[in-house]
Amino acid sequence: MKAWLLREIGSPELFALEDVDELVPGPAEVRVRLRVSALNHLDIWSSMGMPKPPLPHVAGADGAGVIDAVGEDVTTVAVGDEVVVNPSIGCGHCDACNRGETSLCDSYKILGEHLWGTLADQVVVPATNVVAKPSILDWEHAGAYGLAYGTAYRMLRRARLRVGDTLLVVGVGGGVSNAAMEIGQAMGAKVFVTSRDSKKIEKAVFSGADGGFLSTEDFGKALKVATGRGADVIVENVGGPTWKASVGALNKGGRLVTCGGTGGPNVELSLPRLFFKQLEVIGSTMFDMGEFADITRLVGSGRVPVTVDSTFDFGDLPEALQRMQNGEQFGKIVLRHE
Ligand SMILES: [Zn+2]
Repeated sequence: MKAWLLREIGSPELFALEDVDELVPGPAEVRVRLRVSALNHLDIWSSMGMPKPPLPHVAGADGAGVIDAVGEDVTTVAVGDEVVVNPSIGCGHCDACNRGETSLCDSYKILGEHLWGTLADQVVVPATNVVAKPSILDWEHAGAYGLAYGTAYRMLRRARLRVGDTLLVVGVGGGVSNAAMEIGQAMGAKVFVTSRDSKKIEKAVFSGADGGFLSTEDFGKALKVATGRGADVIVENVGGPTWKASVGALNKGGRLVTCGGTGGPNVELSLPRLFFKQLEVIGSTMFDMGEFADITRLVGSGRVPVTVDSTFDFGDLPEALQRMQNGEQFGKIVLRHE
């Protein structure tokens, strides 16, 4: 089979399309022949060794396709089933897994980061890590929602977003932020966004956001001027460059939830502001099985649209990665495999 293989660490230019042996599913595993995959920043981080994957490596967390082989003891799905891959993989038997908290598993793994992923003709995952492809989604949209929409859904749950809350989504072009905007609207929040690019703010408003502000200005202040109050919940994954304005945008009792620091990992926090305003800073990563089932139902019912930015042929991975590295996207970048 063909796979975009990473034989050394350094940069996204090191992915090379190679022929490798077909994968064989072990007990309780299935092999999916991928129709599409989708990119995440994780793929770039992996190629740069953050964290360093076992080599050679195949990146790619998202994908959808058709099951073409099953291992021993697999009874829940069968060859020919059309499925979406869930990239959040727990051991299935530790205390966290027993509580259903997959992403708190002691030996937690992300497809395409710790395990060979979807930037290949085939991927092997536990049989519990596929769900039926929602019938209203075409392949491109089915293969695109997994990591970003699952992650955003868990973030909004952990931040206890309520109907009528003001939600501020920082950096709306990226997959997770874009998903948070769509899910926040479906949950009944008033949704505002930030971006460095005024065109992306226009697109967000066109897709139903209540307004937006440039990330380069003090958007916390701008939000208060525009609405008369701040945010109840803020979705952050930029970190360094936007942190100060984000914290400044929170109402008393507000919750800032973060799943990353694409702009820099270290931030400052004023403790008096934190306790006096009774703010919460919440970390969140990936999602559990129940949350993936929930988000699959939400996108499968049409209540949460999946935003696909662009679709590239599988062979054009370098161009697709370049688009993400340049921050040009609004939503998910998809690869069509066949
Ligand atoms: Zn576990």
